[in-house]
Order: sequence, then C-alpha cells, then structure tokens
Amino acid sequence: MEKIFLLLGTNLGNSKMNLDKALNEIKKCRITILRQSKIYKTKPWGYSDQPDFLNLGIEVSCHYTPVQLLDILKQIEKKMGRDKGPRWGPRLIDIDIIFYGKKIIKTERLTIPHPQFFNRPFALHIIAELAPDFIPPGSDLKMREITREIPDEEIQIYCD
Ligand code: ADP
Ligand code: MG
Repeated sequence: MEKIFLLLGTNLGNSKMNLDKALNEIKKCRITILRQSKIYKTKPWGYSDQPDFLNLGIEVSCHYTPVQLLDILKQIEKKMGRDKGPRWGPRLIDIDIIFYGKKIIKTERLTIPHPQFFNRPFALHIIAELAPDFIPPGSDLKMREITREIPDEEIQIYCD
C-alpha cells in the first residue's frame, strides 16, 4: 500500500470543530485514516492579517487514484461551506494532498508532492510526526532528518 498523507488546515469559525467534521467526512468517503497527528497551531502564511490556523496531518489508505482523491477532498471542502477565497487567505477548511506514495505528479490540477510542502516548517513537522522514516519522493533524506534542520520555534501544539 502506498503511503498517502493529507494535511488539513482551518482558521475560520470553530477551527477544532471544522477539523473533526472534515475527518468524519473523509471517513464517510471510504478513506481509512491510519494515523493522525497532533493539532498544530500555526501562524498564517501568505497574508499575515488573519487568524492563526489549526493544522492536522493524517496518513490514509484508499482505492482512489490521486485525481479521484483530489475530487473527493474538494467536494468535502465545498460541502463544508468553503468559499472560493484568495489563495493563502482565511478558510473554513483546506485539505491538501502532500504525498501519494512515491508518485511525482505535475499537472494543471494536481501537483504532488504538494508544491508548498517543503517551504512550510509546520507541514514538515506534521508529516515527520506521522512518518519519521518516510523518504519523500525526490529526496534522499528521511522526514526526521529533514526536520532536524528546520527551526521549530514558531510551532505550537494545540491542546483542548
Ligand atoms: P491552496 O493552494 O491554498 O491549498 P486551494 O485549496 O484553493 O489553495 O487549491 C487550489 C488548487 O490547487 C485546487 O483547485 C487544486 O486543483 C490544486 N492543487 C494542486 N496540487 C494540489 C494538491 N497536492 N493538493 C490539493 N490541491 C492541489
Ligand atoms: Mg488546498
């Protein structure tokens, strides 16, 4: 089975509830959640004048192709009421595909590994928590080795 990693983010409304709801919707779509990270509280990226984000990573398994999985995740975002806001702007829920096993995909609709993944310290830390020994496609290093170099002073774990 390929290791598939998704990253969820939200900074509008009741963020903790948005994450719970998104996880439920994901399960309802015949996607099995194998591992779930802690919830990370992160500073907004792109536009700084917006609320902090809550982020969470999951490792999943499913029988969908990458594009089918993207369609399902976009449907969940829509169902949960996400509007087409600005890229990197505030959002009710964002669900990104970070890795789909060792696949490298570069099409107009879908880029895997996720194009911003390696630029976002919190994302690296979340995936490293889930899979410290995973070697991302295009890299020689394990996630735990990649995050060793990444400063983590901005990263907080969110607790209820
Ligand atoms: P953001 O880049 O801030 O997550 P959106 O969630 O609105 O913005 O996504 C914009 C588009 O990014 C989506 O419509 C989708 O086609 C595309 N996209 C490309 N690669 C990915 C990926 N790995 N995961 C999710 N969406 C992706
Ligand atoms: Mg997205």
